[in-house]
Amino acid sequence: MRVAVLGFGWAGVLAAGFLLERYPGAEVVAFEKSRRLGGLLSTAEINSFTFDIGGSHVIFSNDKAVLAEVVALLGGEALEHQRKAYVRLGDLFVPYPFENGLYVLPPEERAQLIGDLVEALMKIPPGWRPKHLLDWIETTFGNGIARRYLIPYNEKIWKRPLDQISADWVYMPGRLPVPDVKTLVKTAAGIPTVGYAEQSRFYYPRRGGIQRQYQAALERVRDRVAVRAGEAVKEVGRRGGRLAVNGVEVDLAVAAMPLPDLIAAFSDAPEEVAKAAERLDYNQVVVVGVALDKPAPDQHWIYVPDRRIVFHRYAWISNYSPANAPPGRSALIAEITLPRGVEPDLERLKAEVVEGLLELGVARERDVLHVEAWLHRYGYPLYTLDHAQNRDVVLRWLREQGVAAVGRWGQWHYWNTDKVYKNVKETIAAL
Ligand SMILES: Cc1cc2nc3c(=O)[nH]c(=O)nc-3n(C[C@H](O)[C@H](O)[C@H](O)COP(=O)(O)OP(=O)(O)OC[C@H]3O[C@@H](n4cnc5c(N)ncnc54)[C@H](O)[C@@H]3O)c2cc1C
Repeated sequence: MRVAVLGFGWAGVLAAGFLLERYPGAEVVAFEKSRRLGGLLSTAEINSFTFDIGGSHVIFSNDKAVLAEVVALLGGEALEHQRKAYVRLGDLFVPYPFENGLYVLPPEERAQLIGDLVEALMKIPPGWRPKHLLDWIETTFGNGIARRYLIPYNEKIWKRPLDQISADWVYMPGRLPVPDVKTLVKTAAGIPTVGYAEQSRFYYPRRGGIQRQYQAALERVRDRVAVRAGEAVKEVGRRGGRLAVNGVEVDLAVAAMPLPDLIAAFSDAPEEVAKAAERLDYNQVVVVGVALDKPAPDQHWIYVPDRRIVFHRYAWISNYSPANAPPGRSALIAEITLPRGVEPDLERLKAEVVEGLLELGVARERDVLHVEAWLHRYGYPLYTLDHAQNRDVVLRWLREQGVAAVGRWGQWHYWNTDKVYKNVKETIAAL
């Protein structure tokens, strides 16, 4: 039996591994558009500074079994950390999640924001379902937190009016922290609390940046998979009872590449399916890495709702592993999203990131050693209001063609690597 894996990022490399476990005699061929393997789990090393070029990635999960399996891949070469993440509000660093960290605010401000929040929670009618993301934010968190943090921050990351983003994904267990009354009372009383507990401790590879996570999965299958790196999937069709991918005949295909590109590769996709695939919306992500001639503060990543600053988050990845920067120096990455179709001006974004860091007092001009930028066309799948409907039309048709779709882009879900792991494992087991 010959199986094709279409797209060889984290989902693709896992699919190859689980396929070979299930069908040990199978011949697996992987098609990967990029010459560099890793997808969003890619790392670049420049002058002894390590940058995760798909953005700040850490390993965590509320699924203990999945977490254990992913950490085990790293074979003891994982560092464990206590999360130090903050929301930057004016000059203050409010510990993340914001509603847990409000205890650092002056009492009057704290009382105002928590008063708004409690008032909002008390007004939620039974059985309420938010109409869209804006509705969810305003109804759940109240005016204060919505205006000061959640609305500007979400507008920066989604780059769409928030009433055009569905709220379905906030119900995904573990995806987002949701306020809990006991926590709120504590934080109102000025007592530190920890929220989003499954992420409060995280793992990170000791060496090689986050790409090690991908590499570890790749090493398990490398000599048993024919990887066609640099070969995008361009043509998928049927020959007799078999599928043909770029002319290669296969008995089964597992797709871990973006659905719009996959559907476009079929010559015979019905119009309804082609239109649904085109309507699946997404954001690109630009990651700007900055090497600094100064030590990092004791922080991991910082959310920046301030609309004047180009990036929505920056991360001190030299604190994820000491191997990520030379002693006494630091490596920082900043993330910027762009709507699909917008051609980014990377030079301008690099300059704007440095300006933002200077403005926030994160670095001084003389600290900046070098700056680099990387673009990922597919960064974030968007939950537009018609997302579920379009996704269902595409996935139903693909199933009929004998193609199993997995991963962030095959399922079009805002999934982290743990959810992708579970999805791929379950999909291959159910084939
Ligand atoms: C900024 C950011 C921060 C994140 N932080 C975390 C985190 O802290 N922890 C965590 O667990 N997860 C995190 N994630 C999510 C994580 O990156 C994804 O869950 C995971 O990488 C998805 O893997 P994938 O294989 O589904 O997609 P991708 O990694 O995007 O892989 C898709 C692959 O398909 C290939 N491809 C595209 N088109 C074609 C084609 N036509 N033919 C062949 N191949 C093609 C691409 O080149 C790519 O290699 C983050 C994501 C982002 C964007």
